[in-house]
Amino acid sequence: MLLSLLPTKDRGAEETGFAADRCEKYFELLNALLLKLHARDGHSEVDLAALVPTLLSMVRSHRIVEQRGQTRTDRTLIGLLNTLTTLMASDPSFREVAASSGTVKVLFDCLFALPQTSSAVAGAAASAPPMCKVAPTRAAAYRLLSTLCEGHKGNLSALVVLLEPLQRNTTKVGKWRYQISRVSKSFTGYVGIKNLGCICYMNSMLQQFYMLPQLRHALLSVEDAADDKADSILYQLQTMFGYLTLSERQDYDPTPWCQAFKDAAGNPVNIKIQQDAEEFLGTFIEKVEAALQPTPHKSLMNDLFMYSVTGQLACQSCHAVREREETNTHIAVEVKNFSNLRDSLGNFVSWETIPDYQCSSCNQKVGCSSMCAC
Ligand SMILES: [Zn+2]
Repeated sequence: MLLSLLPTKDRGAEETGFAADRCEKYFELLNALLLKLHARDGHSEVDLAALVPTLLSMVRSHRIVEQRGQTRTDRTLIGLLNTLTTLMASDPSFREVAASSGTVKVLFDCLFALPQTSSAVAGAAASAPPMCKVAPTRAAAYRLLSTLCEGHKGNLSALVVLLEPLQRNTTKVGKWRYQISRVSKSFTGYVGIKNLGCICYMNSMLQQFYMLPQLRHALLSVEDAADDKADSILYQLQTMFGYLTLSERQDYDPTPWCQAFKDAAGNPVNIKIQQDAEEFLGTFIEKVEAALQPTPHKSLMNDLFMYSVTGQLACQSCHAVREREETNTHIAVEVKNFSNLRDSLGNFVSWETIPDYQCSSCNQKVGCSSMCAC
């Protein structure tokens, strides 16, 4: 009767009356009964060996419940894993049944499977693999893996084969007091850019550019043709935006970007010197536009940021108006004495009086009003 309550692929937890707070006790009772059944020397009505592939297929088809950055624990999954551990511990021959069902690989994927790039970019990263994300669920999966490998060479070698490339590709940590929780991605799902010294002016700008979907998607879609990738700002920007999208770390180290982004004299960014943010903004737009020239998005920066402004000069004596049109990619707005951007932009297009203006129409040196119209 208890086994018939197990949620399956076709019958969800809701349908079988499962609730997160109750299913913990359900699995405790089930595990205790399974142990007793086994102790009765196999004379039970339940085929325990057949239960192993059944439970395994439940784990395999289980929907991902846990989300990155959240503490929600998948108690049903823990229950299934713990029940499998109980069975493995009660009878070593079940480890052979598990081996023939590929249990080690299923568990390995539950612990270490990586999200597919496409789903991560599409914003589904929060519920992407692995299935076991929080500590209690991972502990249950590790416990089962360990039990499976005890005294079973087949399971152990299957695990070693899977672990070996993982270990080979892992960067060694060379510092003290390393804690993975302190370098993991924030619960907000965003990745920071590390401030290497005095580059907050640049990092804040780069994050704002990253947050423009049109710009981000276009930049990531182009092919960088530069031979020297280390010196290509387009390539380095793509790399940075790639990390900001997919990394599981707290921040991205922008050293390669700082090396590639050169000033007029050809020097890389000096991380020890604070620079003017507006100057960086202008240079950034200019350089990215130049780098995009050989690509289908060569007018991207202009399309996104270019605006034109008409400056008007009106003579207070003869009322002649002179106009001059200018184009630019950014506006430096006043912050002091303004509570919001709208008011500050209003000030940007307001009239101001210029004293002693030599009017070319009436040739008088009079006061003149000046304004900008966007
Ligand atoms: Zn005049």
